Amino acid sequence: MKTIRFLLAVSCISSISLLTLADENDPRQWIGHDRTRPLPAVVDPGYASTQDQPGKAPADAIVLFDGSDLSKWVAVNGEPTRWIIKDGAMECVPGSGYIRTLQCFGDAQVHVEFASPAKPEGSSQGRGNSGFFFGGTRYEIQVLDSYNNKTYADGSCASIYNQYPPLVNASRPPGQWQSYDILWTAPRFEADGKLRSPAHITLFHNGVLVHHNVELLGDTGWVTRGPYRAHPEKLPISIQDHGNPVRFRNIWVRELGKTGRPEFYLADKVLDGFAGKYEVNRDWVVDVTRRDGNLFFRWAGEEFLVFATSPNRFFAKTTDVQVEFKQEGDDTYAYFSVGEDGGMRAKKLK
Ligand code: MG
Repeated sequence: MKTIRFLLAVSCISSISLLTLADENDPRQWIGHDRTRPLPAVVDPGYASTQDQPGKAPADAIVLFDGSDLSKWVAVNGEPTRWIIKDGAMECVPGSGYIRTLQCFGDAQVHVEFASPAKPEGSSQGRGNSGFFFGGTRYEIQVLDSYNNKTYADGSCASIYNQYPPLVNASRPPGQWQSYDILWTAPRFEADGKLRSPAHITLFHNGVLVHHNVELLGDTGWVTRGPYRAHPEKLPISIQDHGNPVRFRNIWVRELGKTGRPEFYLADKVLDGFAGKYEVNRDWVVDVTRRDGNLFFRWAGEEFLVFATSPNRFFAKTTDVQVEFKQEGDDTYAYFSVGEDGGMRAKKLK
């Protein structure tokens, strides 16, 4: 009996460790109707938009635009954008450039609504052109006025530009609000830059399925197509300025999978401002440096590449080290910590 108990205990331990290794949602990890299986989190689903009123995002979504402000959006270089808000929608100001989110996203469910200019002008790619991008500005889902407006198939509204036309053209007339509901699977790359797994997109245009988990061939682009260029799993979402005053509203994201800490993509100018020498005491100076667009600091003989988890707080992915920068009067301070809160306060040398 003792032996049996022991064996049971061992098998429990091994199944627990298997659980942590495998997908915890895999039904093979559980017996049928297992009363110990965790219940799903309760999420208020919000409600859908009408033509007159924007809807409400699910409670666990990150709202990127609710009609009130552009605080989650910047120009591609991280500076303030010149896009405007009018009647609860954000509108592309032709010539002002693309916009992107300050926060970076990997795999995600995304909802966005857009409206082409009510008075259609131009033709083919010149009418109501914008674009919704993942991976910074690498992968474009085309936004276009495709209502009675002929253009090449892989550049029409809801196409994955220069790769996949939508299965059907579910466009509404210009001026009316339309929606994209997107499932984005980010590509993964090996440390040496080789593609490990490609990006995938599922897209509903106005509720109609137009892409069913299609595999992207690489970067989208005019005339040229692909190949993949290695990049971090999480990058900003961007919207295109293609010279047409396309409007957007009710934009939200639900991050999928193991998301880790939020990551932000800050302006070079902001990161440059943090670089310098920080004095912990007379014998200990920590170097904060910039290289290849990234921020590093050197601690105990090790150099750490750090990622922004807010506009002034950074963390490393290899060791639990953090640094938070604070402006106090005329001085900048860095608070370095390892493994636990409460660390070293260091003043930036001028
Ligand atoms: Mg476009």
